[in-house]
Parts: sequence; C-alpha cells; structure tokens
Amino acid sequence: SKRVWLFEEANATMRDELGGKGANLAEMSNIGLPVPPGFTITTDTCIAYNKSDGQFPEGLLDEIKTALAAVEAKTGKKLGDPANPLLVSVRSGAKFSMPGMMDTVLNLGLNDETAEALIKLTGNARFVYDSYRRFLMMLSDVAYSDGTNKLAKHDFEHIFYDLKKELGVTEDLDVTADQLKGLCETYKTYIKQQSGKDFPQDPFVQLQDGVEAVFKSWFNDRAKLYRQREKISDDLGTAVNIQSMVFGNQGEDCGTGVAFTRDASNGNNEIFGEYLMNAQGEDVVAGVRTPMPISELKTQNPEIYQEFADICHRLEQHYKDMQDIEFTIEHNKLYILQCRSGKRTGPSAVKIAVDLVNEGLISKEVALARINPELLDQCLHPIIKPGFKYNVLAKGLPAGPGAATGIAVFDAQRAADLGKGGEGKKVILVRADTSPDDLKGMLAAEGVLTERGGMTSHAALVARGFGIPTVAGCSDITVTDRQFVAKGGQVIKEGDYISLNGAFGEVIEGQVQVVDPELTGEFGTLLQWADETRRLGIRTNADTPEDVALAIKLGAEGVGLCRTEHMFFAEERRPVVQAMILAATEEERNAKLAELLPFQREDFKGIFEALGSRPATIRLIDPPLHEFLPSLQTLIEEVATLKAKGTTGAELEAKEKLLSQVESMHEINPMMGLRGCRLSIVFPGIVEMQTRAILEGAIAAKKAGADPHPEIMIPLVGHVNELKAVRSNLERVAKLVVEESGETIDYMFGTMIEIPRAALTSDQIAEEAEFFSFGTNDLTQMTFGFSRDDSDKFLKPYIAQKILPGDPFEAIDQTGVGQLMKISVELAKKVRPNIKLGICGEHGGEPSSIAFCHEIGLNYVSCSPYRVPIARLAAAQANL
Ligand code: ADP
Ligand code: MG
Ligand code: MG
Repeated sequence: SKRVWLFEEANATMRDELGGKGANLAEMSNIGLPVPPGFTITTDTCIAYNKSDGQFPEGLLDEIKTALAAVEAKTGKKLGDPANPLLVSVRSGAKFSMPGMMDTVLNLGLNDETAEALIKLTGNARFVYDSYRRFLMMLSDVAYSDGTNKLAKHDFEHIFYDLKKELGVTEDLDVTADQLKGLCETYKTYIKQQSGKDFPQDPFVQLQDGVEAVFKSWFNDRAKLYRQREKISDDLGTAVNIQSMVFGNQGEDCGTGVAFTRDASNGNNEIFGEYLMNAQGEDVVAGVRTPMPISELKTQNPEIYQEFADICHRLEQHYKDMQDIEFTIEHNKLYILQCRSGKRTGPSAVKIAVDLVNEGLISKEVALARINPELLDQCLHPIIKPGFKYNVLAKGLPAGPGAATGIAVFDAQRAADLGKGGEGKKVILVRADTSPDDLKGMLAAEGVLTERGGMTSHAALVARGFGIPTVAGCSDITVTDRQFVAKGGQVIKEGDYISLNGAFGEVIEGQVQVVDPELTGEFGTLLQWADETRRLGIRTNADTPEDVALAIKLGAEGVGLCRTEHMFFAEERRPVVQAMILAATEEERNAKLAELLPFQREDFKGIFEALGSRPATIRLIDPPLHEFLPSLQTLIEEVATLKAKGTTGAELEAKEKLLSQVESMHEINPMMGLRGCRLSIVFPGIVEMQTRAILEGAIAAKKAGADPHPEIMIPLVGHVNELKAVRSNLERVAKLVVEESGETIDYMFGTMIEIPRAALTSDQIAEEAEFFSFGTNDLTQMTFGFSRDDSDKFLKPYIAQKILPGDPFEAIDQTGVGQLMKISVELAKKVRPNIKLGICGEHGGEPSSIAFCHEIGLNYVSCSPYRVPIARLAAAQANL
C-alpha cells in the first residue's frame, strides 16, 4: 500500500496513517493556506521499520524520490542542486500530538557546495551559515548521537556558547557570518572526532539518515514516558513529514512563532502567542532569546498580523476548535507550518466549548463530547493567577489539583499546630511519604508534597477526597530532617515559602498568587447541558454536613455512601469508642453505645438537613474494630519504654492490659476478617445503635423541615443469610424507633455488593435488599485477590510490562470485575425489577467506569464531592 503521500493527495481525516501534523498540513494546503509543499511517510512505515530491526524498507527511497520530484517541480529547486538547492525539514508527527517528544531536523540538503550556492542566491552568508550550523547540530543530535559520544544538541550548544564567550557577545545575532562559518568547521571536525565519520555531504544520505532517526525517535525514552502518562499506545508509530524549508532567519523582515487562536489558559477569544524576528524553529520555545507577545506584531507589522489573524479565524471555522499554529515569516511573507487542536487548561476548555456553541460553530453535544471530564478538576480548585510567572523546583505526580502557597513544614503535628485550626498560618506539609497518622497535618495544610507514593497512594487519595493540592511521588526532591533538597541543589528548610501547582505536579520556589475559580458562567452552563443529557444520577460519598453541602453545590443529587465509622474517629469520641470495643460485659458495652448515640444522631440530623429531600445511603460500620485502637506495634513500644524507665504500678498495668486486649483481637488478615456484616452479627449492639441514630436523626431533621430518605446499607454480605439475619434485627429496631416517634419516615434496607459470592447470588440477595450499591474497591480487591494496600509493589511492574492494561483500582476492570457486576444486575432485576442500583467505590468518579455503569444500567454513581462535576459530564458523555 501507498507509503508516501504528497500534501495535495491527503486530508485531515488521515490522522491514523499520516499523523496529526501530516494530515493537517495536507488539509491546510488543500484549503489554500500558504503551506510550503511537502509529503508524508505513513505511520505504518515507521512500525515496519522498527519491527524489521532497523532495515530501511525496500523501495521506500524510490517512493521518496518520486514525491520529492513533485516538490522540486513546485518549488523550482532540487535537493543537492549546486545552483539552486532545495532544503527540507524532516519532521515527526504521530496520531496524537506529543509536543517536543520526538525529533525534527531543519535545513536538510545543506553541504559545503549547496551552502555556497545559497549564498550566491540570497547574498546572505550569515543566514546560510546560521542554517548550516543548526543543521549540523540537529542531524547529529537525532541521527548520530548514541548517548555516549557527545553529539547531543546541548554539546553543540555548549561549543556555540563557548564561542560567544570568547567573542565577548551574548546574543546569537551578534555572531557574524564568518564566525558562524568557522563554527560550522568546528562542528564538522567535532562530529568526525566523536563519531569517527565525516558528516555526510550527500543530501540523499542525509535524508535517509534523518528519516530513520525520526522512525527511531518513536522509541526514545521521553516519547515512551509521555505515551505512558497520556495512555497513548506504543503501536501507533510516527509519520515523517518532509517539507520544503522557508526561512525565518534571513533578516529583520523574517521571523517565526507559535500562537493559539484563543487563550489556552482562560479561553478568552484573543490570539495568544509569541514570536521572534530573524529566528528559526525552536528558538521561540528554547528560551535562548526572549520572544515577544504576538500582540507586538500588530504594531510591528500590521499587514502580516492581519493576515495571520484572518488565517486563525479561517482555521477555527474550518476545524471548529481552538487551534495551535506554528508559523514563519520569510521576507514579509507568511507561511503556516503546523496546526492542531490546542492543548488547554480546564477553565479554558470549558469557556471555549461554550463560546463555540454560542458562536454557532458546534452543537451542545459536540461541546459535551469534546471536554475530557478530568479537566474539570482544574475548574474547582484555587489556581495560580493566569500570567503569574514562577520558578519550578521539581516535578512529581499531579496527585491533588489546585494551587497552594505556604511555608514548608516537615511533620504532621507541627503542621497541625501551625496551620488551619492551629496558629492559622499557611503551611505546606512535606513528607518523604505519608501514613494515616498524618491526616491531621494534611487537613491543616494548604497543600501536601511527598517524595514517594503514586497516584493511588494514601496521600493522593486523601488529597483528592478533600481537595487538597498535592504533589506526590516527587523523586526530584530528597526529604531529610526538616528540609528537602531539590534536584537542582536548592535547599528548602522549615519555614521557607514554597508553592504547589497540583494540577501539573509542580513544586515552585517562593509564593505564587492564587485566585478562586468561578463555578458559574460557562462552567455552570456546560454542566447544565450535561444534566439535561445524562441518564445516570450523581451522588456523593460524604460523611459530614459540610461535605454534603459542598457536594450539593457541585451538583450532587444525594449521598451514595456515608461511612459511619468516620464519625468514630473524632477526638472526643475516640475514648468512648475504645471503651465500647474493649468492654468486658454486655452492659458495659451498651452503656458506651448509649454515650455514642447522641453524637451519631446529631451527625445524621445534620446530614439529612443538608440534603433536604435528597436520599442518603448510609453504610453501617464496616472496618475491623482494631482500627479504632492504638496499633499493636505502638503499644509494644510504649510498654517497653515504660519498663525501661522503671515505671511500675497502675500506669504500666493499664498499658499491659490494653496490649493484651489488642493482641487478642489481632487478625492475620483483617481485611478478610471480622468486619462488615460479620461484626453486626457478632456485636449486634453497634449497628442497633447506628440504626437508631439514623432514624432518630431523620425524625429530628423531619421535624426541622427536611424530608429525609435514609437507605440503610449492610456491608460485606457474601451469603443471603447474613443479610437476612442483620436486616430482620435492624428492621425491628427501625420500626420501633419510628413508631415511638409517631412520624413516618421513608427508609429502606439494602446491601453492598463487594464480595464475588454476593454478585453471583444476587437473585437470592435481591430478595432481601431494596437496593444494591457496588463497592468496587473491595470487589476489585476480592476478585483479583489483590490487597489494595499491598499491591503497589507488583501493580507497577504489571502495568509497565502490560500484564494489566491499567490499575484496576483506578478504572473498573470491565472484563472481570465488570462481568460480575453485569451478572449481579441481571440476577437482581429478575427478582426485583425496580431495585435501585448504584456504585460507591472510587471508580464512581472515573469517566470510563462511569460509562460502564451507564451501560449496565445502574441508576446512579457516587463519588467524592470534588469529582461530582466530572461525573456529571462523564455521565452525559455516556448518554450522547
Ligand atoms: P515539534 O513537533 O517539536 O513542534 P516540528 O516538526 O513542528 O517539531 O518543527 C519545529 C519547528 O521547526 C516548527 O515549529 C517550525 O518553526 C520549524 N520548521 C519545521 N519545518 C519547517 C519548514 N519546512 N520551514 C521552516 N521552518 C520549519
Ligand atoms: Mg511543531
Ligand atoms: Mg468495602
């Protein structure tokens, strides 16, 4: 099949074969924009090349020569012609844009002879040697550098830098033609020295080497890493674009630049970008010279600016989206070298999509479909003031979005003392890694930075749940005692200001200006469209009235998971909870439960009031009881310390007693031990109290004007008899409470489907449950037999080696875990067609999992408050 396509033979639909850059170059030249002529080698050719272990595909060079002849005819120049030489660029370009990840060579075709010819033609020796030195550097960097022989770009830049120093100049433009000619000679000698070979003078050898280098660059380290992060397949391959050169480095009426048709950070409908006069290619982005804002061009050269603005408009109308455009000006003539749909922040994506609908360019459906729901995250958290310039010290994983500024503090207790709820200072908690004990410090901090841990680490999960800006797994820093060292050597000590840009994983020196995002305006409009489009309901996982209120503000239609045990963690309740757990007699336990009842009643009343008439699924106590007690390890250490200090008597005895009690409760595998409904059967008092608290809370809320709908959820059921036993006991309590009050309360009992056996016997279970909620965290854990807390060590290599396509705790494993869910839904609906079905695992806020929940017919998904808008959009996309 055809491997080489002239621009005029192709179009924008051919991204798979020609990559985004190639397909768009073709499209643009066909709609009559000023694009220098060229052609594209297909992505398949790249794949074939890499599979064949680096054999240049047979016949490819001939096909290239045929296409080249067409370009030569159009330009009137010839590659290698000693009188009128054609120069070309060799540019990579994959289906999905990977900016700067793969290689580009400019000015190919230059050799000693064609350089002379070009000087004669242009009368501009400086331009020619400037182009030549760039070409020597670029082709060596991509084709002849093997990582050890010092032929990388920066090695050449170093030589150039030394030359400038020697000449006593700082600007590239101050280096004369002769000096650049000398530099080219130095480069050639250097290349020979390092590689043992002369730099090729034959343009066809140059071309073949350049094309092979681009093929190979598909598998360079940064491209591989980028694909991994962006979830782009390694199998796609890159296309190669060969395009006749135009020159922005021929003098002051020449230049090059990059611009977005709208502002990529806030979406404003203004051309936004930068350019440099008398410059080529990477100069703008490389930062060697400070580029000028595109608005300058308006005053500097109004005609070119107007032409460019018209092209921007045309491209937007044509592609119906904001475009990112690369251009070059050669002697006051404008050329377009690339366009693609521009990368943008969440707020910008929302504004542009809504504006494009209002401008009549796209439909609401297209607007909804176009926005990656994850981007909405950036609309919900404080952001760095657009345009604010800052210095990045280190990069880690973007674990919790939002921007934060504060003083670095290195332990949780100090963060709690100094931060929110303490002295009220703004602090950033910096830890090598975090443990659950750090929660207090995290909540008191503006942001959290950890050296270790991934996107699903404790720190990251907690941070996302609470909306704390977090950078995790930041291996660019080394945390030691009360300080960290960044990879650039900067030392940050306790009390020094740092900032985090959570959405991008950036650790920033000093303070940044932070602004609150707007939840109204275009954001509100887009989500309203989403609500009109989706079928799935959206609920939230929330345990406090404040979180419930926040989630409702963000669009939640109820609570899908209220974890009642979180209410046991509060400082003043903990001693009572502990005494209740450790009670020696039934009476003692009931007495402690009676103390807890009013607390829980108030909790529920608050939640029902915040909910108004919206429903709430409330899960009865779930975790193993030892989680509420000091850890065995801590107690062993405490007893040892007391003994070492020579302490005796009551204090030591009490500790030893506690130690032996905790020891007796110790379980080898607590996650599969005495928890969930098993606890309710062994210690029925706890859930009886909770049921009473829920209904008394509901009654109180009803009296205060709310219209509560409690859905009482019994967790960890595997056998229908477990559910039967717990339910009939609790139903008795519920009836009693409601009858006592004289009110009517609309309550139900249901269960969580989180054990494979429950999924497989859902027909039996549905007889006893008025609703199901899929607890996909546990269901994933139990279906795979992976412990969520211990899986980090093997899940990472699993994903790297493609044993699993991704982390099943992030996106539902549809073929396995999802299959169980499907079976469960089918079985349940057979016996109870109107059964209410939802999901409350972490997956409930993840777009691909939401689409799956839509497909299998769940009624709603539930997720943490800050993910509610994401879920609204994802649910709409599932129903488009
Ligand atoms: P990247 O994918 O890194 O952006 P490109 O292939 O777009 O790489 O090339 C980088 C830059 O090189 C372009 O933005 C443009 O300025 C310059 N360039 C590429 N091809 C040509 C050409 N034919 N004429 C002039 N400049 C070019
Ligand atoms: Mg480019
Ligand atoms: Mg569970």
